[in-house]
Amino acid sequence: CGIVGVLGNIEAAPRIVDSLKRLEYRGYDSAGVATLIDGGLVRRRAEGKLRNLEAALERSPLSGTSGIGHTRWATHGAPTLSNAHPHQAGSVALVHNGIIENYLELRDEVVGAGAVLSTDTDTEVVAHLIDLARTRGLSPREAVAETLPRLKGAFALALLFAGEDDLMIGARKGSPLAIGHGEGEMFFGSDAIALSPFTDRITYLDEGDWAVLTRDGVQIFDRDNSPVERPEAKSSVTS
Ligand code: GLU
Repeated sequence: CGIVGVLGNIEAAPRIVDSLKRLEYRGYDSAGVATLIDGGLVRRRAEGKLRNLEAALERSPLSGTSGIGHTRWATHGAPTLSNAHPHQAGSVALVHNGIIENYLELRDEVVGAGAVLSTDTDTEVVAHLIDLARTRGLSPREAVAETLPRLKGAFALALLFAGEDDLMIGARKGSPLAIGHGEGEMFFGSDAIALSPFTDRITYLDEGDWAVLTRDGVQIFDRDNSPVERPEAKSSVTS
């Protein structure tokens, strides 16, 4: 339902929770955060309201300056902790808005390739597809480029990769995703409100676009994986 991604220079988890709070108006049934700590992916998730996620983070705080967060409105799989995003498969964690319509078929494929599923969501299969591609030796960017055309349905995705502290990849098809430009920091948000605590400099992805963020900028690709330029606008949403 709501997505935020932070590739920053200070602790990411509190910023992600702040942003998710601004997305509460959209409604949700569970929430979660993943950050990169010493190159490893670590998650905290909770059923119900954001205060439950905050309590989980108080019990076991997450350090790390890059991370992704999600408020979920369940479409496939009950609103439980294990179905809450981010979902992780090996070296990939991701958050997803929308529905992967061909997830059953893709699920058979990844299970056939040896993946072990740990959720009832349509989303998890995307993490496995990308992780399997990484295992075959593809870079994060190559793995995403190969996987996106295989997904039917609507999605906005933000992905974080183990061992890649200066990288975050996002994609949009049928669900909105925006990029926020900071000073030596970059962000993803499902709308300008999600980005409002961080920056008012925003680039909206076009339908079918995907974007590779590093702290010093973004490279955007269209649905044919050709590099494209998208305009930067000044958001009128103030935090
Ligand atoms: N279809 C996904 C799920 O049920 C994402 C739902 C959403 O957009 O929050 O987990």
